[in-house]
Amino acid sequence: MGRVVILDESTANQIAAGEVIERPASVVKEMVENSLDANATSITVEILNGGIKSIKIIDNGDGMDADDVEMAFERYATSKIRSIDDLNRISTMGFRGEALASIASVSKVEVITKTEEAEIGTRVVTEGGRVLLSEPVGAPKGTMFVVRELFYNTPARYKFLKKDSTEAGYIHDIITRNALARPDVSIKLVNQGKTVIHTPGNHDLLSTIYSLFGKETANAVIPLSFKQGGIEVTGYIGKPEISRGNRSLEMVFVNGRSVYNRVITAAIEDAYKTRLMQKRFPFTVLKLDISPEAVDVNVHPAKLEVRFSDENMIYRAVNIAVSAALSGASLIQGVDEKGSNHAQSYSYQETPETEAEQVKMQGKPGIRVNQPDNSLWVPEYRKKEYPVYSKPMEPVPVSETNTSEEEKELIREERRDAAAPGTAAQAAEPIRPAAVVPAPQVQDDRERLLNAEIVGQAFETYIILEDGEDLFLVDQHAAHERIRFEKIKKQYTLENPFSQGLLSPLTVELTELEMQKFNELAPYIKKLGFDAEAFGNRTVLVRAIPSLMGSSFSARDFRDILGKLSQEIKGVLEIIPEETIYMMACKSAIKANRSMSQMEIRGLIRDLAGCENPYTCVHGRPNIISIGKKELEKKFKRIV
Ligand code: ADP
Ligand code: MG
Repeated sequence: MGRVVILDESTANQIAAGEVIERPASVVKEMVENSLDANATSITVEILNGGIKSIKIIDNGDGMDADDVEMAFERYATSKIRSIDDLNRISTMGFRGEALASIASVSKVEVITKTEEAEIGTRVVTEGGRVLLSEPVGAPKGTMFVVRELFYNTPARYKFLKKDSTEAGYIHDIITRNALARPDVSIKLVNQGKTVIHTPGNHDLLSTIYSLFGKETANAVIPLSFKQGGIEVTGYIGKPEISRGNRSLEMVFVNGRSVYNRVITAAIEDAYKTRLMQKRFPFTVLKLDISPEAVDVNVHPAKLEVRFSDENMIYRAVNIAVSAALSGASLIQGVDEKGSNHAQSYSYQETPETEAEQVKMQGKPGIRVNQPDNSLWVPEYRKKEYPVYSKPMEPVPVSETNTSEEEKELIREERRDAAAPGTAAQAAEPIRPAAVVPAPQVQDDRERLLNAEIVGQAFETYIILEDGEDLFLVDQHAAHERIRFEKIKKQYTLENPFSQGLLSPLTVELTELEMQKFNELAPYIKKLGFDAEAFGNRTVLVRAIPSLMGSSFSARDFRDILGKLSQEIKGVLEIIPEETIYMMACKSAIKANRSMSQMEIRGLIRDLAGCENPYTCVHGRPNIISIGKKELEKKFKRIV
């Protein structure tokens, strides 16, 4: 008896703090969000010792009335919602009403605040959640909170804090995300007296990115803007060259809130898949705006995660938006004087020199995002659901296109399919490669490649081209791989593989397990262009192979491809086996260290220019780099 008691309020608050307030950065997050909810247009955060000693947050927001200040420290005290129904249309950052109470219960808090109307402000001092003092005080409109000695009364929590610099790093990250979420608010972070972040608050996201990450990054981002069925995707995404080894800069915002969401992450990374090397992650500031009813923000105590009612729709919108932006942007990397690749693409010839010009880069040339070619980047099984984005291009007479015989045949096939009424092919028409108008930037790059003069080949590995004031170096193996990859993939997705019969069938011995895989994966193997059948228990007879594969195709190659395919198809049957296709492309591509004739080079460049993504190999390494005449002249010290 008598062992169950209701906890006193201060203990209850400390327990709640355990959930929401994990470290100084959590305090900063909650406090900055409160300032934003109070309509501040300028917020300054000053920290000492990683925020452990003190965190000061000053805003110019609405402030609080004297009656409200003390109340705000109580648990479940909020001015933002009144009932559970309000949660369904939440537009403020906070709503749980527990942050202030939690923070106050584990620290010493001082607040000075004043509303526009009030004659005089209010100052309240608390310790461990108890109000020690409340008095009128002269103050400007807005609110200043000082949180001192965090976790002074909860040693267990205190022990888990990391080094000051680590804690400061977490705060830096929170402020960065808030600043990106709200380019209309000027946000400043001062660490040990030094200003480390200060955003302009001029409503312009690119200048906010510039101020947070610097010129290199701002130069290497592509704007994003896409709207579909109540979802709006905007922001900036990085070119492959500013990718990172982890997801820390893959930043996603849903209705103004920085969140992690696995569907959005998958949609982004799928779009980058063939442009980035494995274990590389893109830089993104991707903003998703969606009606509040379609998203549940109350699934995580610190609101770091969200859930959507229609995940497929979200995946699609994000994937299309990112793919479109990527394929519309010039991705040829420049080479700087030290010889390393840098953020600048040769297409932006007037590189802005000043910050002001930099900021004006919003309307970069050639980025058109409404006409994506999704065919390469979207899971095959989702294709038919896509609505029409672009007006199909007027068909070019087949004879006029610069295409090889097999491609001509492919185009003719497509047109036959498209012309036949009521066919499945017609339903998929809007997203066929042939129906999409390429973005002008890529078109420019293609034309430059096609018109460039062939200078020669270096090290039997790199093709050298000259166009205007630029030299292009093309990695012949990588380029060929990309061409093959796109061809095989196109044939695969159109279920129209080109095969060549073998004079005598190839006999491939398989293990029991491989045989089982072979039987399971037969339809995929066929779609890839093989004609193969089981012959006895452990033998397969290959009668035809994809026509792009060379005559040196061996039993081992077949086993490799089968192995890759079974790895890739695992579980998700509708997937396009890109890795397998890549393996095939690699096996059949021109190797480095091979001399090529002018004719061969011309053909390769023409095919490369015809690629959806001529810029990188399948794993994101560049196919083409450029060197400007100016850079050479600098090297030879003809100009300084
Ligand atoms: P919530 O944000 O979930 O409402 P909090 O505990 O974070 O709960 O804050 C409690 C209340 O204190 C808020 O609803 C708001 O009315 C008030 N408040 C907190 N910070 C500020 C601020 N910087 N400016 C004005 N009001 C604030
Ligand atoms: Mg709050």
